Amino acid sequence: MKMINKTRWNTAALKRFVMAGLLAEGADHKKYLVTVKETHTKRTHGRAYYGLVAHNDDLLFRAYGWHYAIELRLPRCIVNWEQTAQVLIHEIGHTLGVHHCDMMGWWDIAVPWAADVAPNEWADKKRFKSHVDSDDT
Ligand SMILES: [Zn+2]
Repeated sequence: MKMINKTRWNTAALKRFVMAGLLAEGADHKKYLVTVKETHTKRTHGRAYYGLVAHNDDLLFRAYGWHYAIELRLPRCIVNWEQTAQVLIHEIGHTLGVHHCDMMGWWDIAVPWAADVAPNEWADKKRFKSHVDSDDT
């Protein structure tokens, strides 16, 4: 997984969280590009592309090759990580080609793994600045 982190959360902590979701779904985590941003709304929102894409809106990754793309938008102040995990699983479903008519509502998705990996660390140095993580983990 590669991550573009545009939030105040610690990137490693966010990656642990997202990785737990990808592993829970048996997804091919090495092919994922996950962008995390902030939103002014009260809950986490997400979006994803169906199937592999050659590039997405993030110009930086035009050269990354075919990948699955997910964007998560976290509330700026208080994040409900269980709800975020439910949205993440919903978006992973889209990347695997599943449409809404074949899904349960995200609010009904069980995410027993989420509590153990909920991020609780702020980014230390690059706080408020976009952080691109280029590890291939
Ligand atoms: Zn959806």
